[in-house]
Amino acid sequence: MQNVYSNSSGTHRIRVAVPVYLYDCFDYMLSPEQYQQVEVGARVLVSFGRQNLVGIVMEKLPLDAPIDPAFKLKAITELLDDRAILDTNVLKLLTWSAQYYQFPIGEVMQAALPTLLRQGKPADILARVWNLLDLDAESKLKRSEKQQEAYKILKLHPVGTTESVLNLAGIETSTLKALEKKQICECILEKQDLSPVPVSMAQMPLTANPDQKNAIDTVLKYQNKYQAFLLDGLTGSGKTEVYLQIMQEVLKKGQQVLVLVPEIGLTPQTVSRFQSRFHCNIALLHSGLNDTKRLQAWQHAQAGKASIILGTRSAIYTPLPNLGLIILDEEHDLSFKQQEGFRYHARDVALYRAHLESCPIILGSATPSIDSYALVDQGKMKKLELNQRAGSAIMPKIHVLDLKIAQKQHGISQALIQEIQKRLEKKEQVLIFLNRRGYAPVLICDSCAWQAKCPNCDANFTLHNKPYLHLHCHHCGTIHRKPDQCPQCNHTELKPIGMGTAKVEDHLNELFPDFDVIRVDRDSTSRVGSWQKIYDRIQTSEPVILLGTQMLAKGHHFPYVTLVAILDIDSGLLSVDFRAPERTAQLIVQVAGRAGRGERKGDVYLQTLRPDHPLLNTLVKEDYRQFAQQTLAERKMALLPPARYSALIRCESKSQDINQDFLKQHAQLLRDNSENLIDIWGPIPAPMERKAGRFQAHMVLLSTDRARLHFYIRQWWQNMLQQKPSGMKLSLDIDPQELS
Ligand code: ADP
Ligand code: ZN
Ligand code: ZN
Repeated sequence: MQNVYSNSSGTHRIRVAVPVYLYDCFDYMLSPEQYQQVEVGARVLVSFGRQNLVGIVMEKLPLDAPIDPAFKLKAITELLDDRAILDTNVLKLLTWSAQYYQFPIGEVMQAALPTLLRQGKPADILARVWNLLDLDAESKLKRSEKQQEAYKILKLHPVGTTESVLNLAGIETSTLKALEKKQICECILEKQDLSPVPVSMAQMPLTANPDQKNAIDTVLKYQNKYQAFLLDGLTGSGKTEVYLQIMQEVLKKGQQVLVLVPEIGLTPQTVSRFQSRFHCNIALLHSGLNDTKRLQAWQHAQAGKASIILGTRSAIYTPLPNLGLIILDEEHDLSFKQQEGFRYHARDVALYRAHLESCPIILGSATPSIDSYALVDQGKMKKLELNQRAGSAIMPKIHVLDLKIAQKQHGISQALIQEIQKRLEKKEQVLIFLNRRGYAPVLICDSCAWQAKCPNCDANFTLHNKPYLHLHCHHCGTIHRKPDQCPQCNHTELKPIGMGTAKVEDHLNELFPDFDVIRVDRDSTSRVGSWQKIYDRIQTSEPVILLGTQMLAKGHHFPYVTLVAILDIDSGLLSVDFRAPERTAQLIVQVAGRAGRGERKGDVYLQTLRPDHPLLNTLVKEDYRQFAQQTLAERKMALLPPARYSALIRCESKSQDINQDFLKQHAQLLRDNSENLIDIWGPIPAPMERKAGRFQAHMVLLSTDRARLHFYIRQWWQNMLQQKPSGMKLSLDIDPQELS
């Protein structure tokens, strides 16, 4: 072939990862000048089928590399970057991820790019930066608390503060604009200065207690070397202080620190803890940012301007020229695992990244995952324990309330009601946990036992009373009017059974009319800033009842809460998933950990119909660590993960027969071709067999030999994808965390 792309020694080509659901990269031609200029890790626009897509250059092919005559070689449409935007380590990490999770490389690459870069927008953008002009403006701000607050923060950071950082400190752009009108501050659009910002201390570290000191000293022995640590510290034992003191040393050397937190853990409070300790550029990467702000933060990280990169799951793929430490807080949290599409686990990817970058990594939690304890046992991770609460706080006491014998009012035991009343009268706060949104999980006919079920799922409708009475399926989103009478027998008494947060809210208002009930769940905090307002109110010592779901369980510091009650722990004790006990124990300990974090001791009440359940016994009489050791031993006995490695095939179609036939046929193929190294469970119907009108089936693959498991799955899975009937959806989940 001789054309503008070729010369006598061959054709100029690059190999490109294109964002399509195909496992290969594709070769494209380019001119000799472009070939000269292009770097591996840059973006190119290429035509694919009838589309123009943004791909990543994975390789510059040697001129004489053979050309596959079966494919018509096309030229790239455009070179989008004149330099690499993904560095070698991140490219390696992404390539490894694509292989390990057996997901198309082009799609995996997308996980690493902010939306605007994915869309082919330029990699250099202008930054909105705020400067304070009037240092003596207090008197002009008497009327607006918001403006006073913004002014206070601007005074602390008077020059060149990026808008995204101010937004995360809780200051809205509209407030800044109002101040700008009064000529108190100005906004400048800057070509971003991406040079590193020097780090200095904003606040002295606390005096570490002996456990903290031991943890800090141990990690610091491993600077610029790979080593994984599990920081196993009770709730309130000062893990954050340990992170901060280790970070201090790493930052001092001019290195970057990547901090990953769970999805709803990235609150303004988390950010301000870092901001109040260090003066430096902090890049925030989470899904709540708009595209421009996200790209900006990403650039700061990628250019080395940001010293601290604080983000959720996908931030693990941020290019960092100078990475010196990775911290993954609340490592047991499920949000680190992506549950759809490219199903990576940020914890495992982080471990590999630390290895690639030769830096230490700390996984921290008060309730570490059984997986992490197993890694400690295998010597792959060093455990650091924090065994006492920092400061003067002590661990709360757990009480189990037997619902079978208890006197109850509205599903709350009389003893608990009295305790709550006592606390409130002493001007303390109470936290009530119930992991169920809505008014009631079941609506049943009093006469014929008909139940309101979602027509599309194997699930009951949840009854909601706000903003009006309706039925809502939490699995597919279907909404129906609440019927006035039973569709089966026309009886007019339809009874809500069981409790959701909305119902408990009504009851609590009735039981404690003198005190406010603050409900915290997805329904009550959906408005931007509402969670912040609630949080601020909790931080005042006003005696209130907090009522909420998961959202209240995560890492928050509520110093005035002295009583925590979990109204219904039984659903967690009954689940079929072998990980249910682990999740339930973590939930109990995390919720309990919100009690007694201040000066006064805390108490925790668990309501249950099964007070003698072994899990509860271990948690009450011993502790989470004891529970974890027992659970790990049980998993080993039963040859369940982490004693074996696993993969889950999820299959979905319009008929369970189609699913079963297809999976059985392929199970047999795998059985015949894998030297008996793989144990196959199923196919079985998924725990919720019908969802949104489609049938779901599962098949679990287990083996003690991870390399062989992945090896045998690879070819087999590719075949399966090629042979799947149209209309069927298939997915492969390596190291699945949930059987749903
Ligand atoms: P964890 O993250 O382990 O739940 P935190 O880091 O939130 O715990 O710490 C709980 C509280 O203890 C915080 O208010 C923190 O400022 C305080 N604290 C941490 N370490 C110390 C210390 N060495 N001395 C005094 N107070 C401390
Ligand atoms: Zn009926
Ligand atoms: Zn449904």
